[in-house]
Amino acid sequence: MPVCDVCSKAMKFSDGYALTTKEVVLTAAYWTSAFRGGFAGVHQRDSGGGELLLNYIERQASQSHGWLVCEECAKSFSFDRKRAHRLAEQQQDPPDAGPVSPRDAARHAAEAWKRLYGAPPRLGRFSDAIASIDSESGNVSMFRFGGKAKGKGRSDKRKWWERWK
Ligand SMILES: [Zn+2]
Repeated sequence: MPVCDVCSKAMKFSDGYALTTKEVVLTAAYWTSAFRGGFAGVHQRDSGGGELLLNYIERQASQSHGWLVCEECAKSFSFDRKRAHRLAEQQQDPPDAGPVSPRDAARHAAEAWKRLYGAPPRLGRFSDAIASIDSESGNVSMFRFGGKAKGKGRSDKRKWWERWK
């Protein structure tokens, strides 16, 4: 039985979608799901990500085949549903399937990592990818302090009259 390439749940080809590496790996949603599921061990072993994370990013970015994605996971991605469903039913790779730049993938992985764990990963040779997130997103500083500080920051933003509720 085939499994979803994102959440590893058993599924039927006819219930899924065939996506390209670009449609999956170049999204923060994919990496968020990966770090919560199959790749949770990466942060447990090295809170900075390190070589293990770099290897995962390179491996996922270099997938040359299509990705079979279940209905639930498909909600996180934007793609042509009709085409992707037909390809999955026919068990075919999308014609534009193929590897993507690991540096581009690293940017999305780093964004998800930062959001989940509160600090950016150490990405060594892809550190320029992190620099590009910092300049693109105006609210990076809220991730720097992790979950606790984030909650505090939120309550600090309340107006004085809201504190009486
Ligand atoms: Zn899935």
